[in-house]
Amino acid sequence: MICYKQEHLIKMVEEAKVLTKKGKVAKYIPALGEADPSTLAVAIYTGEQDCMYAGNIDEVFTLQSISKVLTLALALMDRGSDYVFQRVGMEPTGDPFNSISKLETSIPSKPLNPMINAGALAVTDMLVGNTLKDKLERVLNFIRKLTGNKNISYNPVVAQSEFETADLNRSLCYFMRQHGIIESNIEQLIDLYTKHCAIEMNCNDLAKLGYVIGNEGRGPNANENIIPLEVARIVKTFMVTCGMYNASGEFAINVGIPSKSGVSGGILGSVPHGVGIGIYGPALDDKGNSIGGLRLLELLSKQYNLSIF
Ligand code: GLN
Repeated sequence: MICYKQEHLIKMVEEAKVLTKKGKVAKYIPALGEADPSTLAVAIYTGEQDCMYAGNIDEVFTLQSISKVLTLALALMDRGSDYVFQRVGMEPTGDPFNSISKLETSIPSKPLNPMINAGALAVTDMLVGNTLKDKLERVLNFIRKLTGNKNISYNPVVAQSEFETADLNRSLCYFMRQHGIIESNIEQLIDLYTKHCAIEMNCNDLAKLGYVIGNEGRGPNANENIIPLEVARIVKTFMVTCGMYNASGEFAINVGIPSKSGVSGGILGSVPHGVGIGIYGPALDDKGNSIGGLRLLELLSKQYNLSIF
């Protein structure tokens, strides 16, 4: 059993924080542009009572692309993997997360994987529920269960800010509707997508969520299977192959922890068999990953030998 030490975490945050000066906060969603780029926080959860943490731990942030892992898990639970993978592929991409180009050149035209925007929009379209409100409530309840935090909700200001500026995501949807991958009304789909991207939490919640995925879908209360084993296995695999956008290969070599990042600066880490990591650092590198967060994960992986490879 690895013994995580708070003094290590504090040192690592200090070291990684230097890099935040070199990154930039995302501005294409205007509300995200207001984040303080020098913020950096980490939490680790091993299934015990409390998380161990260091840095600006009280900061809450929106999940953005991290929500793609959770909507995928829910869609797989709702529809089964045959249905999901008829509409979304399983292959990583070397393109940026919001790229449209592969949609045009892939035959049949379907998004390469569920971790890029096109794939996540297709997955959002598969969620079960009678109304948009029902579907959002199901996503929220699922996340409340995973984090054990009943107060998880979404940030309406960030959701609205993205909704008003999401024309690139709209164009991905129109393209996919033309090719029969999605069926919904596109404004409603963008509404649901921007809301689940705006689900908010702090690093402790994120670490708890990462713990369940790493722990084969079981919560800290070992009897409770929140995600079926097979679904946890699939999402963890996508975190390895596609979770850090088009930097996933380099990340697998340098860090080797199944992870998913979001443009808010959050990174979710799930070390198999029960360590969850939550990171927040809104200063991003040129691929959209938290620059301080990447360094922190590298330090953590080396210090505690966490690489799965
Ligand atoms: N909501 C964001 C978008 O669609 C999520 C992207 C991300 O975190 N990489 O652009």
